[in-house]
Amino acid sequence: MGRIRILSDTVANQIAAGEVVERPASVVKELLENSLDAGATELRLEIENGGRRLIRISDNGCGMLRDDALLAFERHATSKLSSVKDLLAIATLGFRGEALPSIASVSRLVLETRAEEESTGTRVEIAGGKLIKVDEMALPRGTTITVRDLFFNVPARKKFLRTEPTELAHIAALVTHYSLAHPDKTIQLRHNANELLSVTPVTEIRERVFQVFGSQVLTELVDLGTHERDFPGDEPGLMNQYRLRGFVSGPQVQKLNRNSIYLFVNGRLIRDRLLLHGLTAGYTQLIPPGTYPFALLFLDCDPAEVDVNVHPSKTEVRFRQGSFVHDFVRDSVRRTLTQARPISAAPAPLQPSFGQPTQPAAQLPYSEFSQIVQGGPPPPPPSELFSAGELPQVSMPNWGLRAEAGPSPRFDFGDPQLAPPSPTIGHPGFVRGPVPDTHGALPAGSYAEAVNLEALKDLRPLGQLHDSFIIAAGRDGLWIIDQHVAHERILFEQVLRQQAAGQVERQQLLVPLVLELTAGQEIEYERIAQELDRAGFDTAPVGRRAIAVQAAPADIGPANVEKVVLEILEIAESEMRRATLEEIRRNVAASIGCRAAIKINMPLDMTKMEWLLKKLGECEYPMSCPHGRPIALRYSMREILKSFHRI
Ligand code: ADP
Ligand code: MG
Repeated sequence: MGRIRILSDTVANQIAAGEVVERPASVVKELLENSLDAGATELRLEIENGGRRLIRISDNGCGMLRDDALLAFERHATSKLSSVKDLLAIATLGFRGEALPSIASVSRLVLETRAEEESTGTRVEIAGGKLIKVDEMALPRGTTITVRDLFFNVPARKKFLRTEPTELAHIAALVTHYSLAHPDKTIQLRHNANELLSVTPVTEIRERVFQVFGSQVLTELVDLGTHERDFPGDEPGLMNQYRLRGFVSGPQVQKLNRNSIYLFVNGRLIRDRLLLHGLTAGYTQLIPPGTYPFALLFLDCDPAEVDVNVHPSKTEVRFRQGSFVHDFVRDSVRRTLTQARPISAAPAPLQPSFGQPTQPAAQLPYSEFSQIVQGGPPPPPPSELFSAGELPQVSMPNWGLRAEAGPSPRFDFGDPQLAPPSPTIGHPGFVRGPVPDTHGALPAGSYAEAVNLEALKDLRPLGQLHDSFIIAAGRDGLWIIDQHVAHERILFEQVLRQQAAGQVERQQLLVPLVLELTAGQEIEYERIAQELDRAGFDTAPVGRRAIAVQAAPADIGPANVEKVVLEILEIAESEMRRATLEEIRRNVAASIGCRAAIKINMPLDMTKMEWLLKKLGECEYPMSCPHGRPIALRYSMREILKSFHRI
């Protein structure tokens, strides 16, 4: 007997399920898409235990005829496609006929459905791919699908499921996305009887954005309007039209992850590198590299122009005219950003990108940038930029030069061979060694972790370079210190110490700050509420999807409270898959440190410089900021003497 066998349907479905059903959110996605394809205008989702125990979706769509209700669980059974030709122009969200059999093969599933044409409905029960029973019963028009005990019969898959909040966050994000793409539908999401999302039909996407994200987000966004561009079609005289609509954030919004980018092609939520790149290219030099905007982009085109059959999960697409689409998105976003005046809030101090190498900002097209940035109200008074009472007042930071404040300055590193040896204190993970510059005229400074840290303790400030770097003389040479990252490190360690001791100094806010949260943020909030408290924020939930901040750490100044809280939630969200509370704690401290630290382009007098150097000398790890950027460069005496041919 030969060795090759045909797999049973059950096994084949379970294999397909591996691709279609990755986690509870993928089940939700398939079921939502089916309901939308069925023309439903009301979709209600119930989730229990992050979707592991229960996922139920009820719709008022066309329902299924009795025969179809059974057929739907056959592999490749679909009502949406009949020939390969149809595959070239798919107008529905589903088409592969794989979802229902796949889901039914790895769960206990109940389908209840009634089509308009039939007077009674059908109930089908399947467990682990096996038909348990079929009943006839009275049902309203539409379909309800209940999926229980996902992966009950595939323990290997079950192990890969994350915690309840993580799985729920994925579901909430997904439903949020779909609700944005379909403003004309009623969509509800409940988890363990808590309502996470509930939206009613509206005519404008703008109104849906308001329903989902609240007014705060809306004020940070710029309406793209409608952009159209044609590409010559296959036949002479025939043009393929592409249309782009949506909302993008102004340059003051700099997210640390891509979670706030929503891309839809013909109403289908997708992840696409090409579109993502087109979008970020539109922001080149408007926001620092490594940061991301908020964006809600709807691209519509002839279905024949885009292949959605790239992957079973249908989240990847392939455009026939890839580079045309890329440039269209980039140009539309760019044009909107450079023409628009934001409706927006105060300019946020630029934050360093997290651990990413950054570009020098010198070539920034300042006119464009300032045009956008200067629309906002004046920056916060500098007093708020200092930790409470520790530093005396200084003059206003030079916001006009803010464009230069973002990326850290970069230095050229030449051939390390030329470097004279230096005594080392190893700090693993950092570049070490003195580094001559490429022109060979002046030896450039060493990253200072390669030197005796004791030397930091008696540095004498000589002055400031470009109001941004402190020049200091030390026993062992000449030092250049980045004032912002140095202060950031000082504050970071201070906050960590205070948190550990439970002694964060709090300031009561005069008026509690109410923040509206997205469904995803609300879930993160529940998870990290205690961490926020430990970090010095008094917060409490108020109403649905909003929190009130009553007190904040004294270090950060009232003007920064909102930004820091939202940033912390964002960090928690981006680290969803793996962040431990310890990591979140460090990130919270880093975030506070970054917001509260003095900026560059800020003149400091001698007392302040002395204070900063003294505090830096007291730090445990004075050589790099919490995000991994270097704090100090050093020209050793040896390098200096050698350059003057004295040794
Ligand atoms: P596909 O969506 O790719 O066609 P599915 O396995 O997801 O495949 O669904 C199989 C078929 O079941 C669909 O083609 C559709 O006819 C029917 N169906 C699934 N869900 C619904 C629903 N909520 N309402 C009406 N019909 C549905
Ligand atoms: Mg489907």
